[in-house]
Amino acid sequence: MRDVIVVGAGPAGSAVACHLARSGLDVLVLEKSSFPREKVCGDGLTPRAVQELRTLGIDLTAPGWFPNQGIRLIGAGRSLELDWPDGRGLTRTRADFDDVLVRQATAAGATVQQNTKVTGPLQPDGRVTGVHTDKGTHEARLVVAADGASSRLSVALGLRPSRDRPIGIAGRCYFRSPRHDDPYLEIWLDLVPAGYGWVFGMGDGTCNVGVALLRTEHPDYRSLLTNWLAPLPPAWGFTEENATGPLRGAALPMGFSRRPH
Ligand SMILES: Cc1cc2nc3c(=O)[nH]c(=O)nc-3n(C[C@H](O)[C@H](O)[C@H](O)COP(=O)(O)OP(=O)(O)OC[C@H]3O[C@@H](n4cnc5c(N)ncnc54)[C@H](O)[C@@H]3O)c2cc1C
Repeated sequence: MRDVIVVGAGPAGSAVACHLARSGLDVLVLEKSSFPREKVCGDGLTPRAVQELRTLGIDLTAPGWFPNQGIRLIGAGRSLELDWPDGRGLTRTRADFDDVLVRQATAAGATVQQNTKVTGPLQPDGRVTGVHTDKGTHEARLVVAADGASSRLSVALGLRPSRDRPIGIAGRCYFRSPRHDDPYLEIWLDLVPAGYGWVFGMGDGTCNVGVALLRTEHPDYRSLLTNWLAPLPPAWGFTEENATGPLRGAALPMGFSRRPH
């Protein structure tokens, strides 16, 4: 019997595992994929997120972290640069970022079991006492559901997202671009017909470029991205031949449709 089982080794799971293991608890993290793995994201970290990385003891002087000083908002024909009030933000691909965090959790003493899918809660008398996985059953005094926005473990326990909140959908792509070292995270607020876009420099020769929109309004993120990028300056390099990988999509729950229960 473990002290804690953490389901999912995304940033939430690795962070909680790291803190709990460091405080002396016996922590088992169960993750269905294996690291490094990709995750559709903007890859942008605000100073508050950066502060959390410091509390986890992540070495932010190591190569791979790219700093930013604020956000640039573009909309209604204007461009506004807003510096972070406190400290700096960072970018890092999720392939790297999640791997760094899971290593930190392991270094703190957590046992991380990858390629292990949790299939449901173990609930002999109503209380959750562990989980079933595709490789067997594990018991613990506490189970943390850190299995992401769709949290199937929560759903299995009857904890469903609020249906009255909007659901977005997003698509992102990496492009080789001279804008890779832009010191601002750039956000375009009024894409046509609806939605927003982002250009986040990764500092490694590429930009993370994506769009998001309400699923109910206009679910075609591919044409939204294409129509937005087409008139942008060719020198920025946001063209098919500069894409370093495919356009990938993801659901984007909004408005606290999921909350800790
Ligand atoms: C398009 C898009 C852009 C975004 N951009 C940004 C951004 O720029 N900056 C920012 O701060 N946030 C951004 N976000 C939000 C960010 O991605 C999430 O807040 C973050 O990933 C949540 O972390 P998490 O650990 O809770 O979940 P996740 O990162 O989803 O991790 C969940 C983990 O659980 C694992 N898992 C799931 N089910 C099981 C199972 N049954 N058994 C075992 N393991 C399981 C998954 O494999 C995964 O590793 C963006 C999100 C989207 C969709």
